[in-house]
Amino acid sequence: MNLILLGPPGAGKGTQAKRLEEQHGIAQISTGDMLRAEVKSGSEIGLKAKAIMERGALVPDEVITAMLAARVSRPDCAKGFILDGFPRTAPQAEALDRMLTDKGLRLDHVIELKVDDAVLVERIAGRFTCANCGTGYHDSFKRPAKDGVCDSCGGTEFTRRADDKAETVAARLEAYHRQTAPLLPYYAAQGKLSAVDGMASMDEVGRQIGAILSGKA
Ligand code: AMP
Repeated sequence: MNLILLGPPGAGKGTQAKRLEEQHGIAQISTGDMLRAEVKSGSEIGLKAKAIMERGALVPDEVITAMLAARVSRPDCAKGFILDGFPRTAPQAEALDRMLTDKGLRLDHVIELKVDDAVLVERIAGRFTCANCGTGYHDSFKRPAKDGVCDSCGGTEFTRRADDKAETVAARLEAYHRQTAPLLPYYAAQGKLSAVDGMASMDEVGRQIGAILSGKA
């Protein structure tokens, strides 16, 4: 099963992609996570991407597309994958279509997570992550049970994304509306697009996605 989760930053794509990975044994592919790993390692791609990401703009299509092509060829994608944060532009969507055709694969569903912009700014600005295991938290919505200690691994160090600052969030939302939202009609025309209410609880969003995947939506 090959899926795309499409939605603005902060819509909950990463959270839902992780759940789907666990439920279906398919690989979560987050191009944002891949880029952050490149930045951390100081690679050539990371050096190019860092400043672009910090101002909330999109990394050039050819860089992302090459990175994605290498990623979907890895063995953990044999049963399928969930794309989280890719494609973000029309050339990326077209490159993905060609990539899938070349591999004899098809896209099963594109699921849009719909969330109002006003909610996104609050959601994003409060996010933080366990530096050890990557579990996600939020200042208002999901604090660890014991302050300063990760519920999952007991870790005591947390990180905040450099691009989760309010000023950068506005640029990221603008990039979404201008460059990524036009993909919605592209996938609707392919008969692949469904939408869920991204403002509902995490469990409810998960349930709505499950209904789409099982054909009961
Ligand atoms: P994300 O973690 O998906 O919010 O991505 C964080 C940042 O990485 C974005 O604001 C972009 O700068 C960059 N990025 C991630 N995925 C893509 C993509 N598919 N195309 C271009 N830039 C991307």
